[in-house]
Amino acid sequence: MDIKELDNKYIAATYARFPVEIVRGEGSLVYDENDKSYIDLGSGIAANIFGYNDEIWINAVTEQLHKVQHTSNLFYSIPGAELARLLCEKTGMKKVFFANSGAEANECAIKAARRWAFQKYGDESHSTIITLKNSFHGRTITTLAATGQDKYHTEFGPFTPGFVYADASDASDVARLAEENKCCAIMMEMVQGEGGVVPLDRAFVSGAIETAKKHDLLIVVDEIQTGNGRTGKLYSWQNFGFTPDIMTTAKGLGGGLPIGACLFGERTENVMTPGSHGSTFGGNPVCCAGAVSILKRVDSDLMESVMEKSKYITEELTGAPGVISVAGMGLMLGIETVRPAGEIVSGCIERGVLVLTAKNKIRLLPPLNIPFELLKQGIRILKEEICK
Ligand SMILES: *Cc1c(COP(=O)(O)O)cnc(C)c1O
Repeated sequence: MDIKELDNKYIAATYARFPVEIVRGEGSLVYDENDKSYIDLGSGIAANIFGYNDEIWINAVTEQLHKVQHTSNLFYSIPGAELARLLCEKTGMKKVFFANSGAEANECAIKAARRWAFQKYGDESHSTIITLKNSFHGRTITTLAATGQDKYHTEFGPFTPGFVYADASDASDVARLAEENKCCAIMMEMVQGEGGVVPLDRAFVSGAIETAKKHDLLIVVDEIQTGNGRTGKLYSWQNFGFTPDIMTTAKGLGGGLPIGACLFGERTENVMTPGSHGSTFGGNPVCCAGAVSILKRVDSDLMESVMEKSKYITEELTGAPGVISVAGMGLMLGIETVRPAGEIVSGCIERGVLVLTAKNKIRLLPPLNIPFELLKQGIRILKEEICK
């Protein structure tokens, strides 16, 4: 049985796959079953931020593998504590809960926001969370409920109640929802990833923060896709000049191994207490050791090169034939095209370049350390496919 038949026969049909088998990778290149190479401008959806077979990360992970691969959260273990310290020192946040994925990190954020309100009001009256239309927060029943897109709200109901959705371009809509509901938090992505790579504008963000102040709401930022250097800062809220009360991240944090994190600021650091939350694999020492090595390398030099590459892509594509618009931040870019995105993706694959889509756009999430020459080659081919 070939891989396609095997996959179709035994794997639940939740994914429509491209006709490529990824066998191995090296730097920003991946190779298929025929050893054809592809320039990877998707990084396994923003996960492999230092590409493939990265020596530093592999050393960090294998060193830990030789010591302890897993211990329960009933015991102390260095990698998780070290990673939490790094996260806090680099963000000003105070405490970290580790999960295994983005959705789980968001589940923790939602639980914590509601518990914060419970502790304040003594009951569940202020449990509503304002999220944004066109957002994406995960695939569990609760994070789907948090996701502000109708297409995710059918067939799997009943969904978790307590979410209302504000227009992401209209701060007065956030204010209205805060008046009309008893809320505990506003939750948002600074750049809506799955929603089509749509950055929030500054006026909207300051308006939302004002509403949060007025009604004493928490600000929860979902940095699962935008985080870990993707937008030119370690976390994208650092581009907007405020600090969230709760922040979640995943994807790039593990450099390709599953890990999620929920970070608590000053107002929320003591909300979660023993027994209030947990995860068997959360804070897994191997994933954390890898993540420590990743975070240590997301420094100002890397961020500078991210912005240089971002500028290069934006200048190459803005106004190019067949390009309607280019949006995003850093190395998280969405390109609206005349030619249907799906056709461009297939054309690029044919020519050895992997790109993603988000809604009707082409989405680029290359490894942060992609060599400039490879990036140029990839963008040249993408550009040619766009104007076909
Ligand atoms: C990918 C993503 C999630 C879900 O993360 P998983 O690891 O797939 O559970 C949540 N929020 C945002 C913004 C994402 O991009």
